[in-house]
Amino acid sequence: YDDRDGKIWLDGKLVDWRAAKVHILTHALHYASSVFEGERCYGGKIFLGHEHSKRLRFSASELDFEIPYTAEDIDAAKDAVLQANGFTDAYVRAVAWRGAGQEMGVASSRNPVHLAVAAWEWGNYYGDAKLKGAKLDIARWKRPSPETAPVHAKAAGLYMICTMSKHEAEARGCSDALFMDHRGYVAEATGANIFFVKDGEVHTPLADCFLNGLTRQTVIKLLTEKGIAVHERHIMPEELDGFEQCWLTGTAAEVTPVGQIRDYRFEVGALTLDIMDTYEKLVRS
Ligand code: PMP
Repeated sequence: YDDRDGKIWLDGKLVDWRAAKVHILTHALHYASSVFEGERCYGGKIFLGHEHSKRLRFSASELDFEIPYTAEDIDAAKDAVLQANGFTDAYVRAVAWRGAGQEMGVASSRNPVHLAVAAWEWGNYYGDAKLKGAKLDIARWKRPSPETAPVHAKAAGLYMICTMSKHEAEARGCSDALFMDHRGYVAEATGANIFFVKDGEVHTPLADCFLNGLTRQTVIKLLTEKGIAVHERHIMPEELDGFEQCWLTGTAAEVTPVGQIRDYRFEVGALTLDIMDTYEKLVRS
């Protein structure tokens, strides 16, 4: 991804794609002092763009730093990047981090905070899983307790175990891994939230120790508007056996059906197809 034509917004300027670099002694590279957003632009408009800008600032505040740009400035930076690269349908990545400067220990309050925005074209996150349903493994790592990490931030450090779990899942022929949380309840996948269907009602893990995705919140709203009961609650892994349908939600994943989690199988059923379609129409409206 570093060797392309195009422009990236870096600290207030559009720079050439290949020139958008950081120094080796960047604090974030050593200590994970970085937060980011993943957004999608549909037909020239970023879905929930302003909410993503606000979440980026919130994530930074959870990591005890402040992004030197307002949410409106971040919105404008994203628009500038899309325009400079001529994209109307693209994935947008904003990232903020503690840079290199006065300090190179764990503390970094005297180092500058940087912000960058890039965008690229990104098709289906799980490939052809939208048709057949994704196959998931179960991660051996657990989502941490809110007493252990800033679990509601979209922080780079929380993705260390995501990358490891996703690699292990892929090595086993799966598209992704499902995490349990620190108590053993079903939590989320490495970059998406999860939903289940049983007897016409929807069940989804309570977002009390992981990212409460904007797509998750959107899908809960859409289901509620359709008059479908949604239960946000603690889900035990033993319950996987009784669910009929399952899907993942995320900005990149959108709504992707799940066909299998280890030996548990799910059908790509009518409600799954309906919510995929409703979500697709909403983001493009
Ligand atoms: N959980 C994790 C770990 C994620 O990376 C994502 C993607 N940002 C989500 C959930 C879904 O969040 P959203 O719907 O806001 O993209």
